Amino acid sequence: MTSTTAASTGAGERMHALASRLFPLCRSITGDGVRETLREVAEQIPLELHEVPSGTQVLDWTVPDEWNIREAHIATTDGRRIVDFGESNLHVVSYSEPVRAEMTLEDLRPHLHVHPERPDWIPYRTSYYTRDWGFCLRRNQIEALEDVTYEVVIDSTLAPGSLTYGECFLPGRSEDEIVLTTHVCHPSLANDNVSGIALLTEIGAALAELPRRYSYRLLFIPGTIGSVTWLARNEDQVSRVTGGLVIACVGDSAPLTYKRSRRGDSPVDRAGAHVVGRSGGRVLDFVPWGWDERQFNSPGFDIPVGCLTRSLEGEFPEYHSSADDLELITADRLENALQSTLEILDVLEHNRTYRNLSPRGEPQLGKRGLYRGLGGPDPGTEQLAVLWVLNQSDGSHTLLDIAERSGLAFSDVDRASGALLEAGLLAEVP
Ligand SMILES: [Zn+2]
Repeated sequence: MTSTTAASTGAGERMHALASRLFPLCRSITGDGVRETLREVAEQIPLELHEVPSGTQVLDWTVPDEWNIREAHIATTDGRRIVDFGESNLHVVSYSEPVRAEMTLEDLRPHLHVHPERPDWIPYRTSYYTRDWGFCLRRNQIEALEDVTYEVVIDSTLAPGSLTYGECFLPGRSEDEIVLTTHVCHPSLANDNVSGIALLTEIGAALAELPRRYSYRLLFIPGTIGSVTWLARNEDQVSRVTGGLVIACVGDSAPLTYKRSRRGDSPVDRAGAHVVGRSGGRVLDFVPWGWDERQFNSPGFDIPVGCLTRSLEGEFPEYHSSADDLELITADRLENALQSTLEILDVLEHNRTYRNLSPRGEPQLGKRGLYRGLGGPDPGTEQLAVLWVLNQSDGSHTLLDIAERSGLAFSDVDRASGALLEAGLLAEVP
């Protein structure tokens, strides 16, 4: 794992292409849209699919019935379609129970939803845990409705089945695990949702090719119920997880953002703050609002899982509406988020503590090929990094401590430690 401001590697285009293939699928917290999504991801990385039966008790929750939908519309009795699921899967409230009826506008109206601010956007609505049905419309569609009788059809099934999630395990030298998750439960929404799925897939492909100190577990799970389910099924192994990241909303124009875990200063927090802070992004404190980090950071688990995003939950105007489309996410921003995530993991992988083996005075660097100063006023990053590592390596400071104190990038400090190790001037403190 290397590189800070790497030029485009093609990964951005690859992620955008995957996001585009996933975009049309009608995902929800259960159902065939999730399975199809995971099958697409499994083309890129080794992914195990789990099916957890409806009714299974998971912590304080119960795995719900499975929802699938084939077709839905509102039409006039002479067959003119006013609203058609085929045009956008956002038109139907997710988890709508089946309906086939003729009804007056008055009876239909309580089941119709519009965007509170933008008349031309279709809002995204769900009703997972309350049996209901509904349609989401552009405001002009509602305004065009006449006071007549309508044919209303939602050809869905809401019945015992299972909850599906995907798990990609990449073993490392240590059994200590880093968990990386994204939610897979939103239908045709780009930034909030397919951008995160595409990024986590690419991270999996990159990690699979790299030597690993930690083991990595990538989870593609429906929001909330997915992380609750995974935690419930893995309670006896959860102590292996030393930290992690929730990845979501990584393609829009907001600056890269790291949200700390509940603990706030765990290794992943320090790595996330270092990398994102240096890149000009935002570093935010933990709040118990957002995505699946809420479950990992609950007090009974207290697993330090931070969040890597651009916009936060609900922070961008297009959030949860038909305007969150593929135009909103770009290959460049996906690529930048990929590089930053790999840099965060690189800090976790390579953070070490060393002891200077020649600590009385500075060792003579020139005879070891480590002194490049020409007597000018600026020693240069490489030289400074060597001096910082020598000075701070008294057996109690990690490389990340040194990067933070010196203001240098972790990658520069890590490179200097490599050169000093090779010169026999450092020893690792276990
Ligand atoms: Zn969302």
